[in-house]
Amino acid sequence: MTLRIGCIADDFTGGTDVAAAFRRAGLRTALVFGTPDTATELPPDCDAAVVALKSRSAPAGEAVADSLAAQRWLWAKGAAQTYFKYCSTFDSTPQGNIGPVTDALLDAAGSSVTLHCPASPPNGRTVYQGHLFVHDQLLSDSPLRHHPLNPMTDSALTRLLSPQTRHRVGLIDWATVRRGVQAVREAVTAHQQTGVRHIVADALTDDDLAVLGAAALELPVVAGAAGLAEGLGHAYPATAPATTESTPSRGRAAVLAGSCSARTLEQIAQFYAAGLPSLHLDVLAAATGRDVTGEALAWYDAQEPALPVLIYASASPEELAAVQAQLGVAEAAAQVEELLGTLATHLVERGVRRLLVAGGETSGAVTTALGIRAVLVGEEADPGVPWTYATTGDSDLALMLKSGNFGAPDLFTRALAAPAQEST
Ligand code: ADP
Repeated sequence: MTLRIGCIADDFTGGTDVAAAFRRAGLRTALVFGTPDTATELPPDCDAAVVALKSRSAPAGEAVADSLAAQRWLWAKGAAQTYFKYCSTFDSTPQGNIGPVTDALLDAAGSSVTLHCPASPPNGRTVYQGHLFVHDQLLSDSPLRHHPLNPMTDSALTRLLSPQTRHRVGLIDWATVRRGVQAVREAVTAHQQTGVRHIVADALTDDDLAVLGAAALELPVVAGAAGLAEGLGHAYPATAPATTESTPSRGRAAVLAGSCSARTLEQIAQFYAAGLPSLHLDVLAAATGRDVTGEALAWYDAQEPALPVLIYASASPEELAAVQAQLGVAEAAAQVEELLGTLATHLVERGVRRLLVAGGETSGAVTTALGIRAVLVGEEADPGVPWTYATTGDSDLALMLKSGNFGAPDLFTRALAAPAQEST
């Protein structure tokens, strides 16, 4: 069986989000961290593979080069269609990277038209008359107008895209989408005949996205957020059974947290309040050469094996500021990532088979330390937070990679609630 959809996500969290969307649509989906190389293997029999890049805020030339490398790799694995996943708030600058990356993917595929839709109705992102709404506000009236990297001061997607491409930009409005798949296909053809290359489509509901997905089935390149990916996924007849792994229960369970986001701090507090063993890492002591890793492992070895444990560097805003003032922001982050990466490898050696990692950067550090390049996506514990399955050495590992603000406050205890069973 061969891969059908190859997806390129412009950031790591977006990669997990879109991979979970393809899986919800019934596709067996793999997630690959960073630009793959010839040695990167996919789990067998995948319908969809998502390569998660860090290209959203990179210089446009670099974003294009990385995306093209990912597209070539996905083609080599058999993917016939490319999906470019960007943010549901169309996070970009006047220079890109949505326009330049989509244009490059289209050129490489020899295609002259693509459909764009960043709508994500469950998260309140809808598109009407080409304008992006965040719940009941236009994007430009929402808090995203103050985004630290890319302030969004316009809501008209056609106007946002135009300066990012030398090609024409058009719209398929909601009235057309409501008329169904055939009407959308005809509108795509009509736009194509007048030289429009980027077509923004309206969508208010998941049903609208299902119509767009079915209409886009034959397009070599499609672009948008996780909602359109799910619509597209539903349009593919399932050939492999979706991964049905439910919450894993085999082997010891641990959380490694490096995220200092408010939600992660709540999840840590909830874990502690549930009476489960947790250990705070002293980052300053580690920086002065104390064997914080050795101490943490001795603590781990003394815990009741049936219970999940939490080891965290995460700190309150005050503590974080104090550590950063002493070590510098970059050095503090490097210390934490080194600590958590090293601990991850030791914990897996000691029999941890369920590992929840909190923090986007922290997840990158842990997967790198474990040598994991690709995982198979399983059941979501919370929206956008799926279990994933990896192989490290000769053992299987269930891994949950959580971006800082994701997941309900009880995620840690709920996801790891099953008492550890014998690992096989
Ligand atoms: P999030 O997804 O919440 O943004 P990340 O893991 O991406 O989480 O980012 C958190 C950053 O904070 C990481 O770079 C991590 O190394 C750093 N960090 C975590 N704990 C501490 C600490 N105690 N002192 C200094 N930096 C820390």
